[in-house]
Amino acid sequence: MNNLTSIMATLVSRCARLALLIWAMTGAMVSIGQVVALDSAVQGQYLGEYMTVWRDTSGTADLQQVMEQNHWQPVNDAIPNYGHASDVFWFRLELQAARRERNWVLVISNPLIDLVDVYGVDTDGDRLSQYSGGAQRKQTDQAIRHRYWVVPIRMSQQGILTYYIRVESDHSVQLPVAVWPLQAFAARDERDTIITGVLLGALFIMLLYNLFLYTTLRDPIYLAYVGSVFGFMMLQVSVKGFGQRFLWPDQYAVSSVAVFVSAYVTIFFATTFASGFMRLRERGFRLMPLVEVCRWGALACALLVGWIPNDWRLYLMVFLGILPILLGFIAIFSYYRTDDRPIQIFAAGWIVLLIGSMLFLLNKLGWVSVNVWTEQTMSVGTIIEVILFSMALGDRINNEKELAMRAKASLLHALNAEREEKQKILISEETASKAKEKTLQIRQDANVRLEQEIDQRTVELQRANEELSRVVQLDSLTGALNRHHFNESIHALFRQARESKSPCSLLMIDIDHFKQINDEYGHLGGDRCLTRVASVLKRLVQGSGAQLWRFGGEEFAVLLAASDQQSAVALAQTIRAAMEATSFVDANGPRRITISIGVACLYPDGLQRPEQLVAMADEALYAAKGSGRNRVLAYQQEEGQHHG
Ligand code: GH3
Ligand code: MG
Ligand code: MG
Repeated sequence: MNNLTSIMATLVSRCARLALLIWAMTGAMVSIGQVVALDSAVQGQYLGEYMTVWRDTSGTADLQQVMEQNHWQPVNDAIPNYGHASDVFWFRLELQAARRERNWVLVISNPLIDLVDVYGVDTDGDRLSQYSGGAQRKQTDQAIRHRYWVVPIRMSQQGILTYYIRVESDHSVQLPVAVWPLQAFAARDERDTIITGVLLGALFIMLLYNLFLYTTLRDPIYLAYVGSVFGFMMLQVSVKGFGQRFLWPDQYAVSSVAVFVSAYVTIFFATTFASGFMRLRERGFRLMPLVEVCRWGALACALLVGWIPNDWRLYLMVFLGILPILLGFIAIFSYYRTDDRPIQIFAAGWIVLLIGSMLFLLNKLGWVSVNVWTEQTMSVGTIIEVILFSMALGDRINNEKELAMRAKASLLHALNAEREEKQKILISEETASKAKEKTLQIRQDANVRLEQEIDQRTVELQRANEELSRVVQLDSLTGALNRHHFNESIHALFRQARESKSPCSLLMIDIDHFKQINDEYGHLGGDRCLTRVASVLKRLVQGSGAQLWRFGGEEFAVLLAASDQQSAVALAQTIRAAMEATSFVDANGPRRITISIGVACLYPDGLQRPEQLVAMADEALYAAKGSGRNRVLAYQQEEGQHHG
């Protein structure tokens, strides 16, 4: 309970203090046209409430006329502010001498006033002092060289001094007038200068930092940011009078446009930065044409400021300043997302910018008065805003980097997957091709083996065939050529002899008394004997280049091509004699075997048949048997006679 009351008490006291502050700021406690007593109570206060004003629409009135005219109006504001006006303004302020402090100064803290004349007049109407200042006048003429217009206060004996202040300006007619003990002013001024220095330093650091970022990242949005910070710095420098005091002293052509150019440049770059930051073009922001109008309008104004009429410079500055801020809010509302941190920070910065710019611009129009409190608030706000924008920018870059990295990672992943897939396919293809190769190899091997086998089989078959045909031609018992072969051979012999018109001969051989051998040794013994006789005959016949056929039973035949009867008989005699001379040994001892041979010879013509030659030889053989065996007889064609 106690706690709660204490909190409540603190709250109430704070609120009261705040209310007091606001009340003090409005300066409502001062009544109009009062004499200002120079003591610590008024030190540093804006004295608009004590002042009266007269507008000289002709602009020609001199001090005497002004003193005599009777149309003074109350100012009602701590800082008289008439916006842009071409009239000459006369202000009147009465001061009463200080009791303790001697050295007081009158300070007009608006460096932008073009012409300011301060006349100090005593109660008798004598002019005690005169001061001429303003941006259009040389600095060397100033009593105290300062960015503001600082006038030493010289009092008369009576201790009452009336100031008549003549103001003529192409800028807003704003007259922040305050009185200070010189020392207190110096201390306050030092503090203000330091604050401004810190502000400018902070801005400059942000500028350098982002310029450095631009050189490494090459993102033009940094340039836009740098440009807007630079413009803002120049605006501060111009508005606070540092520009004409240090940067362009006695250059009226520059100081008359510096505020506007700085403002236009700031608007151009800030609009570029903000639309780039929120990617308004890419997002298809509907009011983009308006944004572009403000942007390029501001740039055009900055470049063509010399050709813009004085009053229009201010109106264009206000218009081109306020519209983009409102458009910025529309864009922020359109694209604000709770999960998008950069735009949140950006929105916060934009709100600060809005407050600051509104105060600045509306003050220039004379709609809003600015006092020492709001001025400091604006300075701090500026730093906050600039830092917030820089943070938002950094955050955005980080986000983008993260996004890019994520995209890269997923791309890498996809690429890896693809590579793996390809590898798999390659492997399977390789396996398939290997399998194919293997199959092919197997098939080839099989083919080769098959071919080899076929070759082998073919050779074997050939051999078997050869063997078979040989066997088929041969007589199985004796190994001589068989009867079937004989029939074919004798036909071939006949054809050949007929074509070559040469003789051919046939020897028909029959073993003598073979039945006895059979009787003696049995048929198997007879067979053995037959075989041995055949082999002897074969050797004898082959020795003369002829062949031996088994004609049937124990009968053999020899065919002779191109052989006449005489040579055939001769061969037959040789065979017969050799057979007779051959001794066959068996179980009963040596034994002689004889043969009888019938020889036939003829020149075959179209009518004769091979059977005829056989019949002739057979007939001759028969005759040989009949004439005693173991002999050779040739067939005699004419009378069927045979020759031995
Ligand atoms: P020749 O010719 O001197 O008048 O008297 P031969 O006893 O030889 O009479 P022939 O030529 O008429 O008889 C042939 C005999 O030969 C008849 C048969 O028993 C015998 N013979 C025929 N072929 C074979 C055979 O293949 N093996 C055996 N063991 N005997 C055969
Ligand atoms: Mg026989
Ligand atoms: Mg016989």
